[in-house]
Amino acid sequence: MTNLRSSVSRFVAGAASADAFPRPAAPEVVFAGRSNVGKSSVLNAVAQRRALARVGRSPGRTRQVNFFDLGDWCRLVDLPGYGWARVARTERQSWKPLVEGYFAGGRPVALVLLLVDSRRGLGEADAGLFAWLADRGLPVRLLLTKTDLVSPAELARVVARVGERLDRPAENAPPLLISTHTGRGLAPLRALIRAAVQP
Ligand code: GDP
Repeated sequence: MTNLRSSVSRFVAGAASADAFPRPAAPEVVFAGRSNVGKSSVLNAVAQRRALARVGRSPGRTRQVNFFDLGDWCRLVDLPGYGWARVARTERQSWKPLVEGYFAGGRPVALVLLLVDSRRGLGEADAGLFAWLADRGLPVRLLLTKTDLVSPAELARVVARVGERLDRPAENAPPLLISTHTGRGLAPLRALIRAAVQP
């Protein structure tokens, strides 16, 4: 079995429009979620590189689809975050065609990871994207991030609310509970990715 730890990871391309996407080369594991949800941190943790996807401010790259290779057997795809309040409308409007272009492009999508901040819970935009992906038959799994910032009781409430909200069979796998600060959930996440990309 391929070992994530031994894979060399590298940035492949950043694409601001669908015509700039690199040619598919390996099964793709897609990371989606609101801005600041912890997407770059989870991606770096999976790739075991501290600054592969830069954490926090990364002007320019934030509105692109970014592609990273883990060896030659898996490609990580970082979709632009959604849900900013302060950016220009034109920038927000570019999100939809870019993301829809990615999923309409016949790419070898092995798994979509939809990240949600444990403190916020599932918002309208998250639920909408989850339904949109599930309706297209894409394998999608919810990740609750930054679990170190909520109490166990609060986390249990968030998980229960997610379960009530996403109750269709395609949606009902329990969310993975993740903290890049404590390492919680990272081993199961790597196992999920390995299983998803296996031929
Ligand atoms: P992105 O905008 O979704 O790529 O989010 P980042 O990975 O840049 O993280 C946004 C902020 O959340 C940064 O300040 C991170 O240090 C912080 N963060 C990310 N993951 C965690 C976590 O598991 N626990 C805590 N406490 N903070 C986190």
